[in-house]
Amino acid sequence: MTPEWDLVVVGGGPAGMTAAQYGARANLRTLVIEEMAAGGAVLLISDMENYPGFPEPVNGYEFSEAMRQQTENFGAVFKSATADSITKKNNIFTVETSDGPVTSWTVVLSTGAKHRHLGAPGEEEFSGRGVSYCATCDGPFFKNKKMLVVGGGDSACDEASYLANLTEKVVMIHRRDRFRAQKVLADRVQNNSNIEVRLNHTLEGIQGESKVGRVVLKKTDSGETYEEEFDAVFIFIGADPQTSMAPDLEKDDAGYLITNQNMETSLKGFFAVGDVRATPFRQVVVAAGEGAVAAHMAAAHIDDIKGEVYAGIK
Ligand code: NAP
Repeated sequence: MTPEWDLVVVGGGPAGMTAAQYGARANLRTLVIEEMAAGGAVLLISDMENYPGFPEPVNGYEFSEAMRQQTENFGAVFKSATADSITKKNNIFTVETSDGPVTSWTVVLSTGAKHRHLGAPGEEEFSGRGVSYCATCDGPFFKNKKMLVVGGGDSACDEASYLANLTEKVVMIHRRDRFRAQKVLADRVQNNSNIEVRLNHTLEGIQGESKVGRVVLKKTDSGETYEEEFDAVFIFIGADPQTSMAPDLEKDDAGYLITNQNMETSLKGFFAVGDVRATPFRQVVVAAGEGAVAAHMAAAHIDDIKGEVYAGIK
């Protein structure tokens, strides 16, 4: 049996779309399955300043849209559906989707990671009523208001800097005595007069009437807790990889998919790229590069199945 597609990409962020571009350009019949809009997490970036080739910051939505058009120009097809499960039998993958099954010689998983919740009392209750996980989406609702940012990584620093353009009153707490974030991003936060950094702090609770009104904070060195009024709480404490639809593959302790340098997982013909993959540096440019490698190696895998592999590519 010949499958319908050569390459099925599950997840249409920069990693997946680059895989699809390279696949389609290499004449692979390429399908991208995406349940939301193409672009993934990049859609939420207001100003992306570190993607090569853009001397001025580029808006994440515009960047994603350009990438989607370029992907279609190369001949890849987009399908709007949710991928529920992926199985492999006799060298052929079947992806069960909300819009029926699709079959392929190879699969690239680029489903990314979903923001983590803190589990603090009041967090779920006030979600959408002052508690947010996206500064560009919800920050403008709290212009000139007092905002709390929780987290110490790149996301927290980036998003706090964004929020500091909207108000002079951003307080940022982190549970340790220094940031995990890249130095350039941490320095930007520390040097921003609109951001007050409080290290060794945790968020113990969120309170209010119909919306966020105040929070309970804890100083981890002394154990002292205190209440403080806030209008909004932005939580950026990392993300969990989206792998529920994937077969049982080798993962790291945090659940990210482990691949070899060809982006191939422990299952032949199944590749993982971008934020779903165990990688030391999660960046849009890295994700795109991973997508290119995966598509190239997917083509080699198909040649291998067909007995047409070019010497040296394995
Ligand atoms: P991250 O690097 O995993 O950082 C998460 C932060 O949240 C850490 O500081 C962590 O504290 C803290 N945290 C986790 N669980 C917590 C809890 N229960 N209570 C309090 N604090 C908690 O996640 P991220 O910042 O979302 O970044 C994800 C990836 O995307 C990273 O690889 C990052 O480099 C990349 N990224 C890059 C950029 C950029 O280059 N501009 C922007 C955004 C994201 P500990 O430090 O104590 O663990």
